Amino acid sequence: MFRLPQNHVTAVVLGIMQDGGLPHAGCRCARCEGAFADPARAEYVACLGLVDNREKETAVYLFDATPDIKYQLNLLAGVLDGHPTRPEAAAWPPRRSPYRLRQPDGIFLTHAHMGHIGGLPQLGPEAMAITQLPIYASRELGHMLLENALWQPLVDNLRIVPLVAGQTVDLAADVSVTAVPVPHRDEWGAGTFAFLIQGPERRLLYLPDIDDWAQWPEAEAILSSVDVALVDASFYSSDELGGRAPVAHPLIPDTLARFAHLPTQLVLTHLNHTNPVLNEGSAARTAVIQSGVHITFTGQQFPL
Ligand SMILES: [Zn+2]
Ligand SMILES: [Zn+2]
Ligand SMILES: [Zn+2]
Repeated sequence: MFRLPQNHVTAVVLGIMQDGGLPHAGCRCARCEGAFADPARAEYVACLGLVDNREKETAVYLFDATPDIKYQLNLLAGVLDGHPTRPEAAAWPPRRSPYRLRQPDGIFLTHAHMGHIGGLPQLGPEAMAITQLPIYASRELGHMLLENALWQPLVDNLRIVPLVAGQTVDLAADVSVTAVPVPHRDEWGAGTFAFLIQGPERRLLYLPDIDDWAQWPEAEAILSSVDVALVDASFYSSDELGGRAPVAHPLIPDTLARFAHLPTQLVLTHLNHTNPVLNEGSAARTAVIQSGVHITFTGQQFPL
C-alpha cells in the first residue's frame, strides 16, 4: 500500500512486467524459480495508476486491467475509500474500515493482449462485483468484450466508453487522457493505444507495448513533448528468445540510442522475465542507468 502526497495528481507504477509477469507460467529460469519460491521476488504485470486527491472524493484510474489486478487494487487501498454498499459491519471479526474497497473510477485499456485485459474477470460478480465501471478502450476492443458470451455477465456491469485515435477524455478541468495509436501486433484489428496523461503541471506518456520505434514516425516528436515517458522495454537482447523467431518489441539498446538524449525522463517498463535489467548489478542494468534512463519499480510515483 502506498502513501501518496496529499492534494496532488500522481501517477503511480503498479506493475513492471511483460504480460506473463514474474514468475512466468511454465518457466524454470533462475529468476522465475526464485519468484516461485519467494513471493517477495515476484513482480506484477505492467500497470499504471492515476490518483487525483485534490478534492474531497479522491479519483482513481487504472491503465490496463492486468492478471495481477487484485494485488494492484490492494496497493491502492490507501486511496480507494470503503465500498458504498458493503459496509464494514459485514466483516467478522470486526476490523477497521474500509472492510471492502470501492471500485476505481475507470480503467483505460491499451489493447487486447492478455496482460492488459486479463484482470477484467476479477471485476465480475464472482469477485469484486463492480457496477457500471467505465472502461475506456478502442471501439473495436469494446465490441469484442460486448459480443463474446464468455465475458457475460461481467460486461453488463461495465460502461464501455469507446475511444478513437487522438480522442481526449477530460477527467478534471486540468487532467486529461489522450489515446495515441501505436503499431503493435493486432490479431483482431482492435489496435493499440498509448496514453498521454496531462496533469496540472506535467505530461506523461504511458506506452507499454509497441512493435518497433521505426514503424512509428511520430515517436521522437511525441516522446519529446512529454515530461515523463514510460515505454516498452520487454527485451534487452534477442538472445533472450533462445533462438526463437524475433518477437516484435524494440530492444532496450535501440530505445536508448533513439531517445536517451531527449530531455524527457525516459522510464523503462513492461520487462520480460528474461530481461537482464531485472538483475541488480547486471551489465545491462548498469548500461541503462549510465545512459541516464530509469528502470521503473512498483511504487514509483510521478507527480503530474
Ligand atoms: Zn503487453
Ligand atoms: Zn523465467
Ligand atoms: Zn501486446
